[in-house]
Amino acid sequence: MTISNKLEALSTTHKIAIIGAGKVGTTFAYALMLDGLAGEIVLIDMDKERTEGEVMDLNHAVPLSNPVRIWNGDYPDVAGANIVVISAGSAQRPGETRLDLLKRNIAIFRQILPQVLKYNNEAILLIATNPVDVLSYATWKLTGLPAQRVIGSGTVLDTARFRSMISQRFSLDARNVHAFIVGEHGDSEVAIWSSANIAGIPLLDFCQQVGCEISAGDRVKMANDVRNAAYEIIKRKGATFYAVGVGLARIVESILRDQHSVLSISNRVPGFYGIEDVYLSLPAIVGAGGVERILKLNLDEGETAALQNSAQVMHGVIEQLDIQPL
Ligand code: NAD
Repeated sequence: MTISNKLEALSTTHKIAIIGAGKVGTTFAYALMLDGLAGEIVLIDMDKERTEGEVMDLNHAVPLSNPVRIWNGDYPDVAGANIVVISAGSAQRPGETRLDLLKRNIAIFRQILPQVLKYNNEAILLIATNPVDVLSYATWKLTGLPAQRVIGSGTVLDTARFRSMISQRFSLDARNVHAFIVGEHGDSEVAIWSSANIAGIPLLDFCQQVGCEISAGDRVKMANDVRNAAYEIIKRKGATFYAVGVGLARIVESILRDQHSVLSISNRVPGFYGIEDVYLSLPAIVGAGGVERILKLNLDEGETAALQNSAQVMHGVIEQLDIQPL
C-alpha cells in the first residue's frame, strides 16, 4: 500500500469523538488506539491545555501502535463522528454514591448535548459519566434521539468485575465465565447467579464436577465485592479508569465492526419484569445501529425482585428531575 493509499484508507475509517478527556476519556482513547479501531479520535474538554498534553502523549504512541489521527478539538469536530462518547463530568468522590453525583453532572450534560446535536445528530451516543443510567436516560429524553442510539456503558464494567472474580476463584480463563450483573450501575445492581455458567456448564454443576464449593455466603460476598469495587479502588487510587476504558472500547468495537456482541449496556427496558420508562442494564445485542435487541434473562424470584427494586431506585431519582427536551 502506498503512503497516499494509506492516508486515503485512514480518512475513510471510523471517527470517534470523546467529550471529557479526563482519566476515563483518555484511558478509553488509549484503548481505542491500541485496538486500532478508529482512524480519527478527537478529544474535547473544557481544560484545553491538559487535553493538549494528553493528545501529545497519545500521538507519541502512534508510531508504535496503529495509524490514527488524534487531536485536541472542539464541538464542530463532532461532525462526521460515528460515535460520540461522553465521559465529561465530576468523578465520584470518596464515600460519595453515584446518585449523589447526578445534580453536578446533569448541568454539564445540558451544556454539552445541544453542542453535540448542532454538529452531529446521526452519531451513536455512548455515555460513561455517572450516574450512568440516569444520565443516559436524561440524554435520551433531552435529545429525543431513538433509544437504540443512546447507550450507557451500564454494567459492562461490573459484569467484567464479576467474571474476573469468579475466574480468579476457580482459576479459570475469565473469557469462559458467563455471568451478568444487571440493573443499575451502582448500589442496587444485581448479580445473576441463576444463569451463571462456565463454558455452558451451570456454575453449581461445574463446582460439583471439579469438587469446588461456592456457598450462599460466598455468593453474597462476591456480589458485594463487585458492588463495592469502585469504592475500594477510589479509596486506594482516587479513581477507576482502566477497566471502564477497555469496556467502552469493547462496546465501540461491537458497534463499528457490527459484531452483534451481547453486552450488559444500559438502555431503555422494554417492559420486561414489569419495568419500563427507565434505563437499566440487561444483556443486549449491540451492532452497527447501536442496541439491536435487549434480551430477557430467566431470573429466579429473588433476582426478579432485586431488579425491580433497582428500577424503583432509578424511578425515584428520575421523578426528582425536570427533563424537558432541549
Ligand atoms: P476526570 O475528572 O478525570 O475527567 C472529567 C473531565 O470532564 C475533566 O477533564 C473535565 O475537564 C471534563 N469536563 C467537565 N465539565 C466539562 C464540560 N462542561 N465540557 C467538557 N469537559 C468537561 O473524571 P474521570 O475519572 O475521567 O471520570 C469521568 C466520569 O466517568 C465520572 O462521572 C465518573 O464517575 C465516570 N465513571 C464511569 C464509569 C462507568 O463504568 N460508567 C467508571 C468510572 C468512572
